[in-house]
Amino acid sequence: MADIQEAYLHEQLLERRQRLETALATFQRNEGLRELLTQVDSALERMRAGTFGNCETCHETIEKSRLISDPLIRYCLDHLTEQQRRALEQDLELASQIQRGLLPPPHLVFAGWEVCYHYRPLGLVSGDYCDVVTHQNESDDVYFALGDVSGKGVAACMLMSQLHAIFRTLVASGLSLRALVERASRVFCQSTISSLFATLVLARAGQSGSIEVCNAGHCPALLLQGGKVIELGATGVPLGLFCEGAYPTQNAKMGCGDALFLYTDGISEARSAGDAEYGTERLKQLVASRPELPPQALIAACLDDLEGFRAGAPLLDDLTIMAIRRVAL
Ligand SMILES: [Zn+2]
Repeated sequence: MADIQEAYLHEQLLERRQRLETALATFQRNEGLRELLTQVDSALERMRAGTFGNCETCHETIEKSRLISDPLIRYCLDHLTEQQRRALEQDLELASQIQRGLLPPPHLVFAGWEVCYHYRPLGLVSGDYCDVVTHQNESDDVYFALGDVSGKGVAACMLMSQLHAIFRTLVASGLSLRALVERASRVFCQSTISSLFATLVLARAGQSGSIEVCNAGHCPALLLQGGKVIELGATGVPLGLFCEGAYPTQNAKMGCGDALFLYTDGISEARSAGDAEYGTERLKQLVASRPELPPQALIAACLDDLEGFRAGAPLLDDLTIMAIRRVAL
């Protein structure tokens, strides 16, 4: 495990130790607290001995994402007891339900915009962030967000929900789009361990058809206008890489039938049975060839094409697609 992550976990453990001791001073007879303190001390001892993060059965390295969520664990996934395995499955199922609860409505028509999305985690939980926010600051602006947190599984899922909370809070504060993403990156950077980051496209669409897009290190957003596809590439680095970053935005005016297409690399980097990459170019061509399709049908067409391309090869990453179309008011 990288030193910096172990240093972070060490600090976390010391903090927990402090809190437990404070709590134990008040609740002296609480056996649960006493047992937790023993476990924290044992983890600190393993750090001193240099065996922290090794499975006590096979001595292999324990999955990093699990250690980050719980530095007290002592066994890799292959060596859990039956009871631990059941508890873990129940936790994951609950995390999955919580995450599904954070998603916006699957189909929304608001202020001259129609939006649909497809959200498919690779496992029970996803590191993709997908959001649509309306009714903020007494304006009819709609915010669309689609992002991808580094890593997979539970740790990525936790960071995804953190990103969700940060954006929901900042959107309500009425900042400009650029200031909003800069602030979000700073908050995200200060509250996560370094080496973890998130790519993101955030768009604000106005009732008049104007759209402003900020792309922080994410795959290019595809703007479909008059049968042509314009790529809106990254203008800033992913969130969380550096606390200070600039996030210029790009503007466009969308007419009836124009569309904005957002996706994660779960689709653009999908592989075929022959190990070819699906690629942005194929996605662009597909989107350009179906300008008449409403969001739901466009997403279905993409998923069909992807399935044909994969020809049975498994998906390798979380996958999210969002299609936004300008409609008559
Ligand atoms: Zn093991």
